Amino acid sequence: MELPVINTNAPSEVYEDPLDLMDEIEVLKKERDASILAHFYVDGDLQDIADFTGDSLKLARDATQVKTSTIVFCGVHFMGESAKILSPEKRVLMPDLHAGCSLAESCPADRLAAYQAELRAKGHDFQTVAYINTTAAVKSLCDWIVTSGNAREIIDRVPADKQILFVPDQHLGRYLSSVTGRPMILWPGSCMVHEVFSVQDLLRAKRNHPGSLVMAHPECPANILEVSDIIGGTEKMRKYVASVTEPKTFLVATEANMIHPLKKLAPQHEYIPVPGIMTSTGETCACNRCPHMALNTLQKVRDCLKYSRPEIVWQPYFSQAQDVLKRSLLQ
Ligand code: SF4
Repeated sequence: MELPVINTNAPSEVYEDPLDLMDEIEVLKKERDASILAHFYVDGDLQDIADFTGDSLKLARDATQVKTSTIVFCGVHFMGESAKILSPEKRVLMPDLHAGCSLAESCPADRLAAYQAELRAKGHDFQTVAYINTTAAVKSLCDWIVTSGNAREIIDRVPADKQILFVPDQHLGRYLSSVTGRPMILWPGSCMVHEVFSVQDLLRAKRNHPGSLVMAHPECPANILEVSDIIGGTEKMRKYVASVTEPKTFLVATEANMIHPLKKLAPQHEYIPVPGIMTSTGETCACNRCPHMALNTLQKVRDCLKYSRPEIVWQPYFSQAQDVLKRSLLQ
């Protein structure tokens, strides 16, 4: 039977009621024996219908616990790859295979391999530590994978006599170097969302909300981290707001959809997204929404369940990436 062609780039022309779509997805999930995993940066509607929500680390671990034969991964491409690598026997579908990641794309595997060879030729004795936001091809070239949730613990496992090459996020690497005291060779990559937060707007928001606390993801540049009260990945943010009973105002410097799970967990607080700036003009904008995560929609989840595609297909380099991922995230 010929499968219909799905244009994964174009949003559906026809408006469909979100509640009808959710009902349809529920039925298809059962028919296809599927579970939905959703990252905290996708739309709240998708988080609400998911069987598992979380950050990259939690979702990678959840993928190994899923009982169904199919996983629908609402997130970006490298996350779907990690789910497939850690659960090769499962079919891993993604609502849109074009959902990439500017940070992962800032470190292509061929350029990393060439840089590693250059460092070795100059006599550097190092291990490569990669943030999880990397392609599987890059992971296969690395010794360790970290997330914002486990980075300190993994960096402690790198032998003290080895240098560290940290890829791809220079801001996270700089922050980790400062908290662990380990010097690092930094790859000059960054995330387009966390790169654009405006420190001027953040300070203005702080003045307008006396007593507020700034919560920032360590992917933010140093000038944002310097004025932040809480620095941590999405799980740390959740734990922090849940631990504070007295209502507070939090200024949140990460992808704006993160406010959805924070509100659900600790509704007593007010959460204000920190605006981004357009780097070319200096104007404030809504750049704190990740355009790649935004490619995940209810329609596309329904379609990928209906047609069982697009699918993450096993690649030869996944085996090497699997060793690194298991050693780093599951042991
Ligand atoms: S928010 Fe940044 S790091 Fe996260 S998926 Fe989007 S581009 Fe990648």
